[in-house]
Amino acid sequence: MVSSSTTENLVVIGSGPAGYTAALYAARANLAPLLITGFQEGGIPGGQLMTTTHVENFPGFPQGILGPELMDRMKAQAVRWGTRLLDADADQLDLSQRPFTIQAQGQTQRTHAVILATGARANRLHLPQEERFWSRGISACAVCDGATPQFRHEPLAVVGGGDSACEEAHALTKYGSHVHLVVRRHKLRASKAMADRVLANDQITIHWEHEVVALQGDDWLAAVELRHHLDGSTTTLPVRGLFYAIGHTPNTGLVQGQLPLDGEGYLVPQQPGQPDTVIPGVFWAGDVADRRWRQAVTAAATGCQAALAAEAWLTEQNLAVTVSRKTPEPESAPTPQKMSPATEETYSPTALWQQGSYALRRLYHESMEPLVVMYTAPGCGPCHVLKPQLRRVVEELAPQIHAVEINIEAEPHIAQQAGVSGTPTIQVFHDKELRCQWRGVKQRRMIRTELEKVLSPDHQQR
Ligand code: NDP
Repeated sequence: MVSSSTTENLVVIGSGPAGYTAALYAARANLAPLLITGFQEGGIPGGQLMTTTHVENFPGFPQGILGPELMDRMKAQAVRWGTRLLDADADQLDLSQRPFTIQAQGQTQRTHAVILATGARANRLHLPQEERFWSRGISACAVCDGATPQFRHEPLAVVGGGDSACEEAHALTKYGSHVHLVVRRHKLRASKAMADRVLANDQITIHWEHEVVALQGDDWLAAVELRHHLDGSTTTLPVRGLFYAIGHTPNTGLVQGQLPLDGEGYLVPQQPGQPDTVIPGVFWAGDVADRRWRQAVTAAATGCQAALAAEAWLTEQNLAVTVSRKTPEPESAPTPQKMSPATEETYSPTALWQQGSYALRRLYHESMEPLVVMYTAPGCGPCHVLKPQLRRVVEELAPQIHAVEINIEAEPHIAQQAGVSGTPTIQVFHDKELRCQWRGVKQRRMIRTELEKVLSPDHQQR
């Protein structure tokens, strides 16, 4: 285990709106915070918004913004002001001694203060094909996604019988042509007032004692199969949207046994509504302690509170070692580069990263080097996470390798030919042969290992 010799002022754990906002405020206070983004535990870096399509309720974006783009912007803003990122999961946190220690990716980080912003993950049913239809008809947030054009005037379904399910079913009647509420028991868990509201709404049909057992559709959800709990009979319900409201699981494994948690695992603040925990120097932000509001904007707000509280505590304890800036204004955040598909005129046989089927065809047939093909889709959060990591590895291995990105929405026939069923998918070709492929996000060192295998002489001779 490698141990860092310095002790951080503040480590923020988690990279959703709560974590990035906390880091932004701490960075602007010259605390140079370290933010551990999280990787696999409890979701992907960027949090729940990375798997959301349009966010239309975050103030400041009158036309709405894609969840992954909003997270890219928050990240860029936090980094611009001096946040340092560690792309890893925090595996262990020891709050029993000071400075606190955090194990992440084989390294020990020591820190005077910690902000826990590890979030919560919406529970899923884990149905067959769930991944395929996630954000393509299935959502865990009706408030965020209900108004999506694909759901307008279409039949929709909500699973669950609690307050969230009832609230969501009620809210969705504004958008859908009809709402089906699928409840596994013979009664609702929701509060009486909420239940009465749903029962009185003739735009909502309750399917008592039913569960969703299968999903149908092509590129978007078209129907769900319901099974009756008692007699086992099945029915097909045509719906374009399926909203999960079956509770959340907070990501509090790191502090189990160290901080008080409630019956469902949510962290219990020292005082309701305050960012402090029972251990001085340990603060919370976002869904990790918020069982009720769970909105991006409320997470960001508590991130701000936690950072201000941490700054005050570090100052009071005389622990803060602030950094000084060379200039009062930091450099501008880099503007995301929009790349266009390569054409006959713009194609380059030596470019490391290009886009589109023209470049793919040329490199596949003409290049002697291994070719990495990344299949992406606009709004695909995991693609946003994977792409910079993959790009960096390709740059490190240059000039022995090339990469091409295919937007499967713009060029579906290419994805179909390649047998790609979802994004991100990576395929690595050499000598016109598929040498390796994977689906989903991988850490940079794992990507490098995969690509180095293809580059190794043994592999190349095959
Ligand atoms: P809850 O845990 O209260 O309810 C979850 C619901 O999902 C239950 O009806 C449960 O069924 C059902 N469920 C769980 N797992 C499955 C499954 N695998 N298949 C089918 N159904 C399943 O969560 P909520 O998010 O609704 O509420 C959390 C808290 O937030 C509550 O305290 C609630 O009161 C509060 N809240 C308040 C609101 C308000 O006041 N406006 C709005 C939203 C939430 P079963 O009942 O059989 O266990």
